[in-house]
Amino acid sequence: MVSTKIVHNLQLSALGDHPFSLRVQYNCSMQRKTVQTYSPADPVTDIPLIGPSYAHALEQLNIHTVKDLLYHFPFRYEDTRTILSIEELRTEGQGTIQGTVLSVSNTRTRNGRFLTKALIEDGSGSIPAVWFSQPYLSKVLKRGEIFLFSGKTGEKWGPVTLMNPQYERISQDVFSWNSDSAPIHLGKLSPVYPETRGITSKWLRARLKTLKPYITELIEDFLPVSVLEQENLMDLPSAITALHFPKDEDDVRRARERLGADELVRIRLQTKETLAARARWNAYEIKDPEQSTLIKQQLTALPFSLTRAQTKALEEIAEDIQKATPMYRLLNGEVGSGKTVVSLLAALACIDSGYTTVIMAPTTILAHQHYESVTTLLKRADIHVPVQLLTGETSLSNITLPQIIIGTHALLFTTALPNNTALIVIDEQHRFGVVQRKKLMQLTAGKSAEAQESTVSEEEPQPQGILPHYLTMTATPIPRTLTMALYGSTSVSVLDELPHGRIPVKTHVVSESKRRDAYTWIGDKLEEGQQAFIICPLVEGSDKVQAKAVTEEFEHLKTDIFPTTSLALLHGQMKEDEKTAILNDFKNCTYDILVATPVIEVGIDIPNATMMIIEDAERFGLAQLHQLRGRVGRGDQQAYCFLFTSSRNPDAQDRLQYFASHQSGFDVAEYDLKRRGPGEVYGIRQSGLLDIQFADLSDPDAFKQAQRIADMLDNAVS
Ligand code: ADP
Ligand code: MG
Repeated sequence: MVSTKIVHNLQLSALGDHPFSLRVQYNCSMQRKTVQTYSPADPVTDIPLIGPSYAHALEQLNIHTVKDLLYHFPFRYEDTRTILSIEELRTEGQGTIQGTVLSVSNTRTRNGRFLTKALIEDGSGSIPAVWFSQPYLSKVLKRGEIFLFSGKTGEKWGPVTLMNPQYERISQDVFSWNSDSAPIHLGKLSPVYPETRGITSKWLRARLKTLKPYITELIEDFLPVSVLEQENLMDLPSAITALHFPKDEDDVRRARERLGADELVRIRLQTKETLAARARWNAYEIKDPEQSTLIKQQLTALPFSLTRAQTKALEEIAEDIQKATPMYRLLNGEVGSGKTVVSLLAALACIDSGYTTVIMAPTTILAHQHYESVTTLLKRADIHVPVQLLTGETSLSNITLPQIIIGTHALLFTTALPNNTALIVIDEQHRFGVVQRKKLMQLTAGKSAEAQESTVSEEEPQPQGILPHYLTMTATPIPRTLTMALYGSTSVSVLDELPHGRIPVKTHVVSESKRRDAYTWIGDKLEEGQQAFIICPLVEGSDKVQAKAVTEEFEHLKTDIFPTTSLALLHGQMKEDEKTAILNDFKNCTYDILVATPVIEVGIDIPNATMMIIEDAERFGLAQLHQLRGRVGRGDQQAYCFLFTSSRNPDAQDRLQYFASHQSGFDVAEYDLKRRGPGEVYGIRQSGLLDIQFADLSDPDAFKQAQRIADMLDNAVS
C-alpha cells in the first residue's frame, strides 16, 4: 500500500534531495542487541568495520548514513564471469581462473621493491603470479586454499606469468556457489563505484554485503504493487539489491529502468507541485500585446524581421501574460537565436499596460550587455521608457514608473522588486544555484527574495500578493521531453532556427602537427582586422588553478606565437568590472585576441570575432563546445572554430568530428546524451540542476510512463 504521507513527502522534497522516504519495519519487541537492525538514518559507523576514519573518508562521497551507502550506486560493472582453465588463460592472455595456491614467497626486486610470487594450479596446469609492493599478500594467499584470480599475463618475467591479478578467496568450488558462499569481487559482474581516497570499490562491496540481508527491510517501496505490475517495473528493494549484487546484465538493466522511472516521476511531481503552487497566486493581466503600440513601434524599427520561431514564441508568451495566473515559461533557443529581442518585446507589452519588467542575468558582464542591447534597440525605435541597470554601485530610483530593470540575480535577490513588477525574465537560469532557483519561484512583487523567504512557509506557500510572470531563457539544448517535464507540456517555447543570413561556423579538428599552420592562418586573418578567441583547456581544480593555467598560456601566446598582435586575458579570478572593461575593449577592437578560460561568459555578443580556438577540445562535452562555438559567427562574415586536440583516442576523434560536421545544438546534445549520459552533457552532477543518474532522457516513452505513474500517485492521495 502506498502511504499518503510518503507520497506527500515525495512531492514536497527539496530539489536535489532523494525524496523516497525509507522506513524500517521495526519489530518493537526485538532487542537491538540480539538482532542487528538498521534504520536508514543510522550513521555508517553502525555498520561493522566502519570506524571514524572510514566514516570521514566516506563523507567525501557524501555518504553519511546507511541509506546514503545503499544509494551509492556503481557506474559500471567488471565482468569476470567466464572462468578459464589455466591452459586457456595462457592462450587468451587475460581472464579469470580458479586455482589452488601451491606456494607463496616474498622477495625483493633489484631496486628494492617487494615482490610476492605465488604458484597457482588447476586441473589443466599451473601458472606463476606476481604482485609488487604488497608484502602482506604472502599472509593472505595461503597454501592449499582456493582462490579466483583475474588479470593479464606477461612474459617479461621468463615464463608466462599472471601480472598483479585481482584475487578473492572462495570457500567452495565455483560451480557449487549459493548466494551466501558466492564471491563478491570475482567470477561475476562486479560493481565499480565512484571511489575516493581510502575507499575502494572492493571495500565498498564488502560493506554493502553486510547490508544486503537488510535491504528489503530498509527500503520501502513507495509504488504500490499494482503500479509495478501494470508498468512492469522491478520493486525498489530488488532494484537496489540488483545494482549492488547483479545476477546478470538484465538484472542491472531492469534495476536502472526502475530507478530511472523514479527520477522522472519525481520531476513530474515536483513540476506539478510548482505549477499548482503558482496557480494559487495572482498575476497582473497584461493588455493584448498585439494591440501594443510600443511593440509595433519597436518592430518597425528593428534592423531585421523576426524569425518564424521568434514570432511564435512571442505569441505564446503573449497568451500567457494576458492571464491572471502567473506565467511559468521556458524560452529555449540556440545561441544567437535572438532570445533577447523576444524578451524585450514582452517587456514592452508590460510597459504598455503600466507595469515593470525585471531582467536577471547570471553575471555582471551579461547584465551590462543586456543593458547595452536593450537601450540600443529602444533608441533606434525612439522609445523613451526608463531602463535601469542595477549594479553594485547603483540602487533603484523612481520605482513607481513602468520600466525595465536589468541586473544580476545577486543584486536582485537583495533588492525589493517594485510593486508593479509584472514580468521577470531570467537569462541562463541553469547558471543559478539550486537555492537561488527555489527562491526565484517565490519572488513576489514588492518584496526582495530575502524578505520573501522569511514570510513564506515552504510547505504551504500562502498567496499574499502578486507573483510576476516568469520567463526563463536558456541556450542549453535540453531535450524537449525533459523541458516539458520540467515546465509543463504547454509552457516551453523553442527557437529552433537562427536568424536568416547567418553563415554556419566552419569547424575543424586540428591535430598537434597542424597547430603551427593554424596559427599562421589565424595570424593572416587578424591582419585583415578580424578577431579571435583562444579558449584554454579545462583543467581540474579550483578557479585559481584554472587562472594560473590560462595566464601561462597567455604569456606563451603573447611572446612566442603572436608577438606583434595585441592580446587580452580573461579569467574567473578577475574582478567583475575588470572583466567588463576587457570585454568592452575587445568589442571595440582594442585587442585582436582574447585568451580566456572555458567559463567565458555565455551570451557575450561580439560580432567582429570570427575565430575561436579551443585547446584540448576532447576534454569538453559537446554541449559545452557548442556554447563556446556560439560566441563566433554572430556577424556577417564567415566564422571558424578550431578544435585543437592531441588525443589519438578514436572515440574522442569521432565525437569531435561529429561536432565539426553538425551545427544544431539539439543534434550535438542528443549525440552526446547517447554516448556520455545526461550528467556529463548538462554538467548536471556538478550543478545539482537535476538529480538524474539513471533516466534515459532521450526516451519519450520513459517520460510518458513517469507521467502515468505521477498521476496515479496523485489520485491515490486525493
Ligand atoms: P541569444 O538567443 O543567444 O541570446 P541574442 O538575443 O543575443 O541571442 O541575439 C543574437 C544577435 O542576433 C543579436 O545581435 C540580435 O540583434 C540578432 N538578432 C536577433 N533576432 C534576429 C533576427 N530575427 N534576424 C537577424 N538578427 C537577429
Ligand atoms: Mg542571450
